[in-house]
Amino acid sequence: MKKLTMKTPLVEMDGDEMTRVVWQQIKDILLNPLIELKTEYFDLGLPNRDATADQVTLDAAKRTRELGVAVKCATITPNAQRMDEYHLHQMWKSPNGTIRAYLDGTVFRTPILVEGLKPLVSSWKKPITLARHAYGDIYRDSEMRVEGASECSLLIKYPDGQVKTQKIFEFSGPGVILGMNNTDASIYAFARSCFSYALALGQDLWFSTKDTISKTYDHRFKDIFQEVYSSEFKAQFDQAGITYFYTLIDDAVARVMRSEGGFIWACKNYDGDVMSDMIASACGSLAMMTSVLVSPDHIYEYEAAHGTVTRHYYRYLKGEQTSTNPMATLFAWTGALAKRAQLDHLPKLEALAHLIESASLATIEAGNMTGDLARQFDRKPAKPLTTAEFLTAIAETVKDKLND
Ligand code: NAP
Ligand code: MG
Repeated sequence: MKKLTMKTPLVEMDGDEMTRVVWQQIKDILLNPLIELKTEYFDLGLPNRDATADQVTLDAAKRTRELGVAVKCATITPNAQRMDEYHLHQMWKSPNGTIRAYLDGTVFRTPILVEGLKPLVSSWKKPITLARHAYGDIYRDSEMRVEGASECSLLIKYPDGQVKTQKIFEFSGPGVILGMNNTDASIYAFARSCFSYALALGQDLWFSTKDTISKTYDHRFKDIFQEVYSSEFKAQFDQAGITYFYTLIDDAVARVMRSEGGFIWACKNYDGDVMSDMIASACGSLAMMTSVLVSPDHIYEYEAAHGTVTRHYYRYLKGEQTSTNPMATLFAWTGALAKRAQLDHLPKLEALAHLIESASLATIEAGNMTGDLARQFDRKPAKPLTTAEFLTAIAETVKDKLND
């Protein structure tokens, strides 16, 4: 087959450790033989972030805003141990945090379902996409230890000198307090991302908070979602035959467990953190989860939901062939390629990206997979393969499908 070409380049953000190795293998074994890849390459590997004082991360985020679609490899978020290991000048911030703050987006995570790897929740027939607000709440809070008897208050100072205070609690002994925030601007952006994504997938949107208890804070989220829905999206939802549904977080959890799946569940930052891990592990593995950051102005950044798989990397450095599951990273590439192709009106490229996805599912369903999946596969025999062997098996399946 003649290699397919691209029009607009993808923003390619390389990363760290095992996923950096897998990144290269995906390109060498699967993509380069089929596609004349056109990318603008940014090396977000920790050594280069350190050498550029993290400018490379910001440059990549800026270029993503200009070009519209990016694909990102997993990256190390440095801690004290990484400072020593990589002799860093500074404990650089999480690249994902930097990119999310710049693009102001929502992270959508969807499990990849495969025959033979049944979700632990038996009623789930279709994937549940978790939409997580990626700004504020406890992730940007201020916390204090209260040493003893005291009165604690909230205080707002406006630039015109106006001051508002509200008592939190009168302590008779030691305790703890926290203050956290969100902004209307970010909540509007979150709402618009969720409604747009639901339209793009043609799926219902659920949203849940605890507004009965949090009557100002969580209620603000509920009100903004309702306002955005009524004024901007209701007509389009009606036309697409999908619905918007708000319910309390505890009711949502109960309904999710009884559901068949096949919808988008929008959650505040903390709820989304916890619930996306629950959905991922109930579906088998973090490596079987796609993840995309969507900004309100329709910028897309595709990534894997897992980290850099450090334990495998240390084995790889000793010369061992590892069985690291490349699915999430591969689906980041195919997701980005399909979206780029769609925007550039390249139907053949879009179809090929989806064909690679279906070929990888077929490869697993035929019994060829990495070790993490082989342990759970309920249709024997499952053959645990190294990453390179697995990618080669997918490439064979792609070839068969193209020759069909
Ligand atoms: P991790 O890289 O997700 O790996 C944790 C464990 O999960 C692995 O040791 C492995 O278990 C299993 N695993 C994860 N992905 C796998 C895959 N593709 N195939 C097979 N097994 C897989 O998390 P971590 O070890 O906590 O973090 C490592 C580094 O990643 C940290 O420096 C962190 O900052 C970074 N991180 C980056 C991102 C991101 O960029 N999106 C997200 C999270 C963490 P076994 O060892 O049992 O096989
Ligand atoms: Mg988490």
